[in-house]
Amino acid sequence: MTNKKISKKDIGKLLEGWSREFTVFVPSKDRGVTEMAKWDGKDTGFFEWYRNTVIPAKSSFLPAMEKMFSFQKDTDGYHLELSQDQQKRILFGIRPCDARAIAIIDNVFTDSYEDPYYVSKRKNTVLIGLNCTNPYDSCFCTSLGVKPTQSVDVDLMLTDIGDEFSVEEITDKGKELLAAASVVKKATKADDAKAKTVTAAVSGMVKRKVDTKDIAKKLQACFSDKDYWEKVAANCVSCGICTLLCPTCYCFDICDELSKKQGTRYRRWDSCGFSIYTRMPMENPREEKWRRVRQKVCHKYEFYPMNFDVIACTGCGRCIRLCPVNWDIIQILSSVPAEQPAKKKVVSEKDVSYRY
Ligand code: SF4
Ligand code: SF4
Repeated sequence: MTNKKISKKDIGKLLEGWSREFTVFVPSKDRGVTEMAKWDGKDTGFFEWYRNTVIPAKSSFLPAMEKMFSFQKDTDGYHLELSQDQQKRILFGIRPCDARAIAIIDNVFTDSYEDPYYVSKRKNTVLIGLNCTNPYDSCFCTSLGVKPTQSVDVDLMLTDIGDEFSVEEITDKGKELLAAASVVKKATKADDAKAKTVTAAVSGMVKRKVDTKDIAKKLQACFSDKDYWEKVAANCVSCGICTLLCPTCYCFDICDELSKKQGTRYRRWDSCGFSIYTRMPMENPREEKWRRVRQKVCHKYEFYPMNFDVIACTGCGRCIRLCPVNWDIIQILSSVPAEQPAKKKVVSEKDVSYRY
């Protein structure tokens, strides 16, 4: 199939056209922190510096802080006003690993309970991918079955072929978007060949690897090895960065802001790395750091696959790049012992009942 193409010089015109109908989000920098943010209507210079964003694209669907509803009380009781974000949006330039991460967390927000806040944003968003051609040293996506140039989770996929982008139409949503864009041209066979050469070269650039084949079984086997998990958690300072900025972590807390007879309910990102995360009236099952670190690892590589048949990690490498003490998930996964000597097992009922 022949692709389409667009000149890099025309990207501004393309985004401008789409901005009439959609709110367009592009890779942006704010005081050194990169994220998908609303396009300012001018700047298309992100191609020069963009590799991937620090804040993952999940924030477009599950913001770090989100208003759920406001409420007020009068003589008739409580009155609620739901917060509904119905704007049509385009995420332009999402990397394949982050698009995969969104597909992974879709499972949670559409399972037995459909989360209206997440789902409305998801349904109204077109994902335009940009194939990764410059992975970080910490990336290991290929170990999780994710290719740096895969287009399964987006509506359109762009590949950098020099002065132009090759554009692959993936879904009907994507096709419709391109149909009205006069700056998009038909690609030639030579353009398609260039795109193929670029994508073929990238997989080899992802250098770090870990064998994830039997990882769930291995983690299950060493779940009660306290010595092992204490070693794994030794340097962690429980800052929560590796979970808050992980594209597949989705935990949130709910809080109310109250003023006399009215208030607002928000939800905000939370992390299983925090000691208060599991605080309950009678006990806290993960007061010790090693239990929390174990939870983070086992949830991604053992419990989540049990529920949804997919590992909740895309190998994006953020948790490695951003950890202040160089905690390295690849080293941890590579060091999980295959079998546990019986003497090391410290099985407790408490451990088993909080294993999820
Ligand atoms: S980013 Fe590093 S120090 Fe912070 S919670 Fe994660 S592993 Fe621990
Ligand atoms: S666990 Fe680390 S490498 Fe895996 S998706 Fe999360 S941040 Fe990326």
